[in-house]
Amino acid sequence: MQNNIEIRNPATGEVDAVIPAITAAELDVTVNVLKKGQRSWSKVPLQQRLDCIIEFGQLILANKQELAEILTRETGKPITQSLNEIAGAQNRIEHLKANASRWLSEELITTEGTTHEKIVYEPLGVIANISAWNFPYNVGFNVFLYALAAGNAVLYKPSEFATVTGIRFEKYLYQAGIPEDVFKCIVGDGQIGQRLLELPLAGYFFTGSYKTGVHIATTVAHKLVPVQLELGGKDPLYVTDDIVDIKKAAILAAEGAFYNNGQSCCAVERIYVSDKIYDQFVEAFIEEVASYTIGDPMMQDVFIGPLTRPAQLTVLDAQVKDALAKGATLRLGGHALEKNGYYYAPTVFEHCNHEMELMKEETFGPLIGIQKVTSDDEAVRLMQDTTYGLTAAVFSSDEERAMTILEKMDTGTVYWNCCDRVSPNVPWSGRKNSGLGSTLSAQGIRAFVQPKAYHLRP
Ligand code: NAD
Repeated sequence: MQNNIEIRNPATGEVDAVIPAITAAELDVTVNVLKKGQRSWSKVPLQQRLDCIIEFGQLILANKQELAEILTRETGKPITQSLNEIAGAQNRIEHLKANASRWLSEELITTEGTTHEKIVYEPLGVIANISAWNFPYNVGFNVFLYALAAGNAVLYKPSEFATVTGIRFEKYLYQAGIPEDVFKCIVGDGQIGQRLLELPLAGYFFTGSYKTGVHIATTVAHKLVPVQLELGGKDPLYVTDDIVDIKKAAILAAEGAFYNNGQSCCAVERIYVSDKIYDQFVEAFIEEVASYTIGDPMMQDVFIGPLTRPAQLTVLDAQVKDALAKGATLRLGGHALEKNGYYYAPTVFEHCNHEMELMKEETFGPLIGIQKVTSDDEAVRLMQDTTYGLTAAVFSSDEERAMTILEKMDTGTVYWNCCDRVSPNVPWSGRKNSGLGSTLSAQGIRAFVQPKAYHLRP
């Protein structure tokens, strides 16, 4: 197994730090420590557990500048977006504060007659949270804070591209009163993740790619423990011909496609535009994307920084080559930038079709394809022509029309006149190759407990 994790700054390509990975032997010891710790933690009253989580949120906010700089240095996320993520992830804590008691407390079903019945929601035990790097606060909090609130212990494996952030989570959780034998940050790459699959854990909560997700689900299937997969997407946006403010729609669509350099699971990945407004929309879209400031992600005014992983540059180049070969029109970008670090020029293609990889395969970068459509039926057919099922969006001035389209989407989330958005109040879930199970909302709270039915004859 790899002994060290190199933390590279994507803005320079230089190694910033080298952090020792956990060894397999240390991991075995840790699991046993957490098993014991979890038993005590599950007996701590819910409100006390929540108080620790609330305190953790305060510590994160109090240290947000330092934490944002860490996130930007290790992922290349522009600093304003790092700060936004840190502030935005607090709504998970607010959600838990307001709702955990309702969904985790025991339920008296009947106290009449000879047999009384109730349901008790017990924690799962020691769970693994194998996480991604693109929004480590959002996707991390969705799992480990909800798991801790429900009385579980957590082995949190941050992505090897967000290791320092993961270590800080551990530091501030401990400072907030979460016992050291209840949460551990497991430093390591995919090999350590693989080792977690071999351990006797009570659940696997994964955020990452379809390929790794399927591997995890099949590897642990024999354990018959909960497996939750938050995977990738190829999220479509359809702009109908009744849009009044085309410029506004183009600005919003561009932000949905290029925020965090397109490295969001729910980023807009392909755009369909009605032929009646196609030219106007495309020109407004190009104008908007061309105005983005590209550069050092530590600078306040930068919207496009480097990609997090150098390997993605190759994926983008391949999609560009494929689109050009199949007749798409390149309007912006189409190449890596000649500077240190993993920069790729924001890239826009128009006149795309579904023969092209960029309309079918996850791009996960600053590259978007636009396709003209002549009817809602055609748009629906193309939006549904995907193996993924995370989100789908429609921009339209007509609510009924939008609803008719959105009802047909086989996705966990649909958006009307918005996109690239997650809220703790509603479930976050993927269908088809986008995943299994839900985080957030009541479903996301109950994901970390198992019901026990009591039949009682007093
Ligand atoms: P990835 O699958 O490469 O890695 C994810 C995690 O899995 C990392 O921590 C990695 O170390 C670990 N891992 C790798 N191999 C493993 C193995 N054999 N066993 C166990 N763990 C292993 O994904 P990524 O590049 O980090 O993340 C990008 C993907 O995540 C994109 O597809 C994106 O759409 C998806 N994503 C989805 C959501 C969502 O909520 N649906 C959110 C964020 C990211």
